[in-house]
Amino acid sequence: MVNQIVGLDPAYAAAQPDAADVVIIGGGIMGVSTAWHLAAQGVLNIVVVERAELGSGSSAKPLGGVRANFSDPGNIVLGQRSLESFRKFSERLGADIGFQQVGYLFLCRSEAEVADLVAATEIQNAMGVNSRMVSPAEAAGINPLLDPAALVGASFSPGDGFADPSAVVAAYAAAAVDLGVTILNRTQVLDIQRTGEAIESVTTNRGTIRTSAVVCCAGAWSAKIGAMVGVDLPVTPVRRLIGLTRQRPRPYPKVPFTLDLSTTFYFHNYRNGLLVGISHEQEPGFAREFTYDWLTEFNAAAAICAPDLEHPDLEGGWAGLYENTPDHNALIGEAGELPGFFYATGFSGHGFLQGPAVGELVADLYLGRPSFMDPTHFSAARFSGTAPVLREVNII
Ligand SMILES: Cc1cc2nc3c(=O)[nH]c(=O)nc-3n(C[C@H](O)[C@H](O)[C@H](O)COP(=O)(O)OP(=O)(O)OC[C@H]3O[C@@H](n4cnc5c(N)ncnc54)[C@H](O)[C@@H]3O)c2cc1C
Repeated sequence: MVNQIVGLDPAYAAAQPDAADVVIIGGGIMGVSTAWHLAAQGVLNIVVVERAELGSGSSAKPLGGVRANFSDPGNIVLGQRSLESFRKFSERLGADIGFQQVGYLFLCRSEAEVADLVAATEIQNAMGVNSRMVSPAEAAGINPLLDPAALVGASFSPGDGFADPSAVVAAYAAAAVDLGVTILNRTQVLDIQRTGEAIESVTTNRGTIRTSAVVCCAGAWSAKIGAMVGVDLPVTPVRRLIGLTRQRPRPYPKVPFTLDLSTTFYFHNYRNGLLVGISHEQEPGFAREFTYDWLTEFNAAAAICAPDLEHPDLEGGWAGLYENTPDHNALIGEAGELPGFFYATGFSGHGFLQGPAVGELVADLYLGRPSFMDPTHFSAARFSGTAPVLREVNII
C-alpha cells in the first residue's frame, strides 16, 4: 500500500490500491479524523478518497468555533469529547492547532430565548459542562463591544473556544499517513457497487477498489453518495458566508464567540481583526461564490447588539456550505439496510467541533466496540419515523 498523500503534484501518478478494508469518502475533518481513529485502533488498508484537496470542502473555514454549549444531550457529549481531544491535540498528534478557550456567549433578546437557554444550561451543568446564565451587564463586561440595553440575558461557557480547521485536518491526515493510511487527493468516487446486502467495491475516476466497508464523510455532497447504494442521507447544501475585517495594528479586545439567537448575527476575533457573519436566507444549492448580500442584515443586527460593528471594515470573506439535515443535527451510523455502509455527515454547521469525537465514534462502530456514547441517537433512521427527530436550540 502506498503511504503518502497523492494528488498533490506530481504524486498524482501514484497507484490507487485495488483493494482496501475501508474506503472513506471525503477528506474533510470527518474523513481524516475517522481515518486516524481507525488506523490508531489497528485497522489496516484504509483509503481516503478526496475529490479535490484535503479540507477543501466546508472544513476550509478560516477559524472554527468549538464548544459543548448545546441543548441536546447527544450534541453536548460530542462537544465535550471533542473539546477534550482539542485540548490534548498537541500531546497526542504533535501539532499546534491554535486552540484557544475564549468561551461562547449566546445572546437572548426575548424571554422565550432566555427560557430556552436556562433549560439548556441546566442540562449542560448536569452533564458537567461549565456554563452559566449571565445578566446583560455581565455579558457586556465579558464582551465590551455589546450594548447591554439590547439584551434580556445571555449564557456563557468559558471552556469553549476555537481552533484552526486547516491545521486540524493536516495533522489528522499526516498522522493517519504515518500509520499507513493512503490518501487519494483529486480522486472522485463515481459509484459504489453492492450485491444484495453487501458492499463489493468503490469506483473512482482512477479505477475500482474492492472493499466491504465504506464510510461516507462527503459533507454537503453526501446525498449523492447515499443514492449510489440506495441509502437515504437527507443532506441539503446551503451556502453560508462570513466576512473578515481588515487586520489592525492593534487587535480588537479579546471577546468570546458571540452569537445573537434572534438574528443569528455573530462575531469573534480573527487574529488582530474580527470574523463576522449572519445566517442570510439562501436557496439550497452547491454555489460557493462569495458575495456581500448578507451585509444589510448584518448591519441591522449589529446596530442593535454591537453598534461599533455596524458597517464593518471588511477586506473580504469566505463562502462555504452548511450540510443541513431536516432537524439540523448530524447523521452518524451504519445503514440498517446495508451493513458496511457507514455515514458521518449532515453536521448542519457544527461539524468542525464534532470532528474528533465523531471519528472516534465511527471507528468504534466499525470495530463493533462499545464507545463513549450510543450513536443510535444520530441514526439517519430517525427520519423514517422509527426514532424521534432531535431538537437543538443552540445553533444558528
Ligand atoms: C460559514 C461556515 C461557518 C462554520 N462555522 C463552524 C464553526 O464555527 N464550528 C463548527 O464546528 N463548524 C462550523 N461550520 C461547519 C463545518 O465547517 C462543517 O460541519 C464541517 O467542516 C464538515 O466537515 P466534513 O468533513 O463533514 O465535510 P467537508 O469538509 O465538506 O468534506 C467533505 C469532502 O468530501 C469531498 N467529496 C464530496 N463528494 C465526493 C466524491 N464523490 N468523491 C470524493 N470526494 C468527495 C469534498 O470534496 C469535501 O472535501 C461552518 C460552516 C460554514 C459554511
